Amino acid sequence: MSNNDLENSFKHLKQTIPLLLKHKIPPIPLNYALWYTYVSNESATLNETLDQAVQHNLPLSAAKKRELYRKHVANDQDVDVWELRQSIERMIVELSQSVKDTRSETRAFKSTMDTCMDDLAKVEREGLSMEEVMELVRSLVTQTKQIRGTTLSFNTALMDAEREISRLKNQLEKSQQAALYDALTGLCNRRYFDEELAAQAMRPNMCLILVDLDNFKVINDTHGHVMGDLVLKASAKKLQAACRNGAQAFRFGGEEFAIIVPNCKFDMARQIAETMRRSIEKIGVRDKRSAKVLEGISASFGVVEIQEGMNPLALIEAADKQLYEAKSLGRNRVMPMSKR
Ligand code: GH3
Ligand code: MG
Ligand code: MG
Repeated sequence: MSNNDLENSFKHLKQTIPLLLKHKIPPIPLNYALWYTYVSNESATLNETLDQAVQHNLPLSAAKKRELYRKHVANDQDVDVWELRQSIERMIVELSQSVKDTRSETRAFKSTMDTCMDDLAKVEREGLSMEEVMELVRSLVTQTKQIRGTTLSFNTALMDAEREISRLKNQLEKSQQAALYDALTGLCNRRYFDEELAAQAMRPNMCLILVDLDNFKVINDTHGHVMGDLVLKASAKKLQAACRNGAQAFRFGGEEFAIIVPNCKFDMARQIAETMRRSIEKIGVRDKRSAKVLEGISASFGVVEIQEGMNPLALIEAADKQLYEAKSLGRNRVMPMSKR
């Protein structure tokens, strides 16, 4: 670190702490890292997000902060993937080495065996002395011991590899659990949604949109799961594209999505849902096997605006009720029609 870097770091450090105190932000490492990056002015997007949060007194959920950290400060996923690759590479080098050892031993063994067979043939043809036969047997035994030794170490290497693989699997599962994104659609996942809602839901003017694809089971049954997955991806993309002014789309579960719309009047949220509904209607997914395009996809929407005293669960239930209405009225619609 050059003197200049050190000086800058110190300058940033001196600015970060008063900021945390001023905004009453707990000085935990994550917050510290975010605000340190803020004062060092490294990412305009991060600064904008934090400025807005402070200006509107918006709480940042832990999930949101982790996302910001990952995007603007460090990249945990990269580290994980890098570690994974390192381990896998190491494992492959070790394994292929022991496979090579075994192979060359096996080749040597085979050639000894061949010689022995020749010699045995000689015994029959020419009649070898007892001494010569014993020599033959001794060499066979030695070779067999050797090959068994190599196979054993190969097995040990295999067992080590298996252990390594299951460790990597565990690690991968853990990093997936900790992840904020849904692997199929790339949207924020349910875990993120729960945290975000817990942080946002107590605020006035917040709306929630629940979306459920219509007759999705039929799509799966008729065109297969792979096509079903493509429809899910395409729908997620449309929902994401229609998110404006801080609205955030999540994969709520299976073929259900949720959109948190902060600082938004009910009618505006309804309009957003209506735009989403229409853009889902326009989806066309090409079936590679038949080259046909699957169309006629639709979704039903339930929209609610937070009311005083509502907790996250009540908000979801209210949106779900509207969604159910949309389904029972014939699907492919946004409910309620207008605010009652
Ligand atoms: P409705 O209009 O009443 O919502 O009917 P529906 O068929 O959409 O609802 P239902 O709950 O009966 O079926 C949902 C289906 O979604 C069943 C499930 O197999 C499928 N599904 C859930 N997650 C996935 C996924 O990740 N990929 C695929 N291909 N299908 C999924
Ligand atoms: Mg459903
Ligand atoms: Mg459905």
